[in-house]
Amino acid sequence: MKKNFVCKQCGFCCEGESTVSLTQEKIDEISNYLCISRDELLSRFCVIKKNRIEMKIQNGHCIFFEENKKICKIHPVKPTHCRIWPLHKSILKDKESFEIIKNSCPGLYEMNYNDICKIIGDK
Ligand code: SF4
Ligand code: SF4
Repeated sequence: MKKNFVCKQCGFCCEGESTVSLTQEKIDEISNYLCISRDELLSRFCVIKKNRIEMKIQNGHCIFFEENKKICKIHPVKPTHCRIWPLHKSILKDKESFEIIKNSCPGLYEMNYNDICKIIGDK
């Protein structure tokens, strides 16, 4: 029987030392959503790393993660990678990497490699 992925909303995937990159379109989308200018978004919430623009890290997690409620403050417009994570082909590269990712995502605890293959294969 096919298992469905259920996000436990733990916020672990919003933690770390860096975030996904933002495209120019995404920068416009997020600044519109927050009703601020691009420049304000970039100065308050973003950091430039070489040729990439990322969201800032604050207290060990993405600046848009609301720790108390464990929610993303920009949920409707969050980057695509955040929206689809962890159901991305990259986690199936090899079984060893899959196990590492699985251990960092409670939504995957009860799923195995083949369960995820079936889900991603259907997309
Ligand atoms: S780590 Fe997994 S279960 Fe936790 S919020 Fe991210 S996707 Fe959901
Ligand atoms: S944009 Fe939202 S979902 Fe993505 S890392 Fe930041 S807080 Fe998490």
